[in-house]
Amino acid sequence: MIRGTDYHLHTTYLKCANETMTVEAIYRRGEELGLTSIGITDHLNTRDKLPEHEKIKHDMAVTETSLETFFGVELNLLNVEGDIPYDDGVREQLGFEFAIGGIHATYVDEWDVKRVVDIQHHHHLRFARDPLIDVVVHPWWFSGGEFQQKGFPKFDDLSVVSENYHLEFARTAKEHGTAIELNASAIFVCDWYPDRFKEQYKDYVRLLAGEGVQLSVCSDAHDIGMLGTTRVVEAVLEEIGVSDDQIWNPKKGKTWRRVHGDE
Ligand SMILES: [Zn+2]
Ligand SMILES: [Zn+2]
Repeated sequence: MIRGTDYHLHTTYLKCANETMTVEAIYRRGEELGLTSIGITDHLNTRDKLPEHEKIKHDMAVTETSLETFFGVELNLLNVEGDIPYDDGVREQLGFEFAIGGIHATYVDEWDVKRVVDIQHHHHLRFARDPLIDVVVHPWWFSGGEFQQKGFPKFDDLSVVSENYHLEFARTAKEHGTAIELNASAIFVCDWYPDRFKEQYKDYVRLLAGEGVQLSVCSDAHDIGMLGTTRVVEAVLEEIGVSDDQIWNPKKGKTWRRVHGDE
């Protein structure tokens, strides 16, 4: 199968990743690890952060590497019914080659598992349908920080989500040509989730693959030591028997097709 891709990486510029995540360090470590193709996708929560993305773009332009590289962006909604700070104008201005996006908060103050699941599902569908979004990020990941702060119980049992939701998400993503992300840091190597959850997640990936969805492999590294954790995701895809044509890359994305035409 295709190996060595990683299409979700952060840098030190947006302060979500730490100081180890410079473009230079990402390229050098990526080469050492035998990665082949990567995308840098820092957060854009508000448009006033665009100058930070200019710096990333500049570093990418002046840093040599043998890796295939793409300049991307990660988006989310600041309110439960808000909108992303992104459109074709922003895309053109910065030259983003792909965009990934999805939910990053529960948007509730009191624990209600049904409500939390319904909101997350609603966001998955919203991002899957968005013509500006190429990949829906880390489905069924929750922020450990938010859970601790609000005293919520751990979300450690994926069986609380009905299979109908999984099928609806998979079919919506496929219909709209949107990929679904398999995220090492958020799920597969995250200590917060117990083994049971990770086993359930494998079945979830099997279901997504069975529906013919494009799957994007990523580390979502916020520290240089997390680069290469994509191997764990690749091992799952191998075990399931996912074929190369279902493994996503930015050239299959809606953004790429819109800018470069259907090649
Ligand atoms: Zn994220
Ligand atoms: Zn991220």
